[in-house]
Amino acid sequence: MGSDSKHDTVLIVAPTAKDAVLAREVLSRFEISSESFPTLVELVERLKRPAGALLLAEEALKSDEVGLLKETLAHQEAWSDIPVLVMVSGRDRGPSGLNVLELFENTGNITLIERPFHTATLVSSIRSLIRSRQRQYEVQRLVTELEVSLRQRDEFVSMASHELKTPLTTLKLTSQMALRSLSQSPDQQIPTDKLKRNIINNDRQLGRLSRLIDNLLDVTQMRTGKMTIQKSQTDLAALSARVVDQFTSAATSSGCSLEFSSFEEAHGNWDSDRIEQVVINLVSNAIKYGAGKPIRVNVTSSGESAVLLVEDEGMGIAPENQEKIFERFERVASEQSISGLGLGLFIVRQIVEMHSGKISLQSVLGKGSLFRVELPRVSGSPRLSLAPDMGQNNPKANSPSFKHSR
Ligand code: ADP
Repeated sequence: MGSDSKHDTVLIVAPTAKDAVLAREVLSRFEISSESFPTLVELVERLKRPAGALLLAEEALKSDEVGLLKETLAHQEAWSDIPVLVMVSGRDRGPSGLNVLELFENTGNITLIERPFHTATLVSSIRSLIRSRQRQYEVQRLVTELEVSLRQRDEFVSMASHELKTPLTTLKLTSQMALRSLSQSPDQQIPTDKLKRNIINNDRQLGRLSRLIDNLLDVTQMRTGKMTIQKSQTDLAALSARVVDQFTSAATSSGCSLEFSSFEEAHGNWDSDRIEQVVINLVSNAIKYGAGKPIRVNVTSSGESAVLLVEDEGMGIAPENQEKIFERFERVASEQSISGLGLGLFIVRQIVEMHSGKISLQSVLGKGSLFRVELPRVSGSPRLSLAPDMGQNNPKANSPSFKHSR
């Protein structure tokens, strides 16, 4: 009958106390929970809370009180149509069931059961009504879920539009300024250094736009299970060095130094584009949330796995948010002034897990964050459980064979 007694409780109104007691006894023998009420007025009050079905004796249907019940049944929410079982007397013993039907005038989900009835008839009717009521509650749950996700989607669309508009506005401004400079200069030329600055700025905005669009596409693919990975021999160290190179000017503009260190190679069988996305997301976050302090990217490799560390000394993440930020759309409320969609780390974790890898985070609020990605070098190799010291006790991690600072 379901585990939530509130949702499957039968509410009984039978003015002859003996009837109510008998009905409750029978139902309880079949593990059906019930409550009884002296009049329809009390029943209507109780209907403000979840219930499985109503069991009414026709004697309880006094016309003024039925009006109240009819009103309640008529104004249920769209998903709700609580079943009502009315016990009527046989034709030779009083008013017929037709009178009861007339009384309700097509309002409500009414079924009649003629007295005297067998216990089995009552129990099977009640069970079937409760079952249909459970379906209604299931529909209610789905409707609520749908409403929440529609609201989230609306919020997301407005956030995404804002995010996409910001780099576009900057691009538009830069090109307008370039045009104005051209028209104002007597020789119709822009000085090379100014032109270079414009191009670098535009390039950064275009990079931001394309990352945003990629993230949006990826999340859709992940949701529909359509994301695939194409593995090939990839060097995590070389790949990370390239990403660090690519972000050097963005880091400089944010006042961060960006340092990369690695062993010479960290080869594995991975999807290089996807792994590049992981590094890009972690490095760009370190710049965004790094408060202008130094950022270190380190790659190490052992026999079975390669490890990427991205460390900043920025705002850090409070313990209660450290798991949450890997969820879709999750952002830390206090960082709303820094633009973002809350998708990057969700995508990062999905990609890492698609490679049978692991991502973890060590962070102290106000002191900085250390993201650690561990990737098995051969697909299907067992996951290593590394000590949570993020490699700081690993002598190799602190003694890279080559190191360059940017
Ligand atoms: P976005 O940066 O677009 O908001 P992410 O999924 O990349 O989305 O990150 C989720 C949240 O995690 C961010 O909004 C931020 O609050 C927090 N976060 C991520 N990286 C860092 C970091 N290096 N330092 C501090 N907070 C971070």
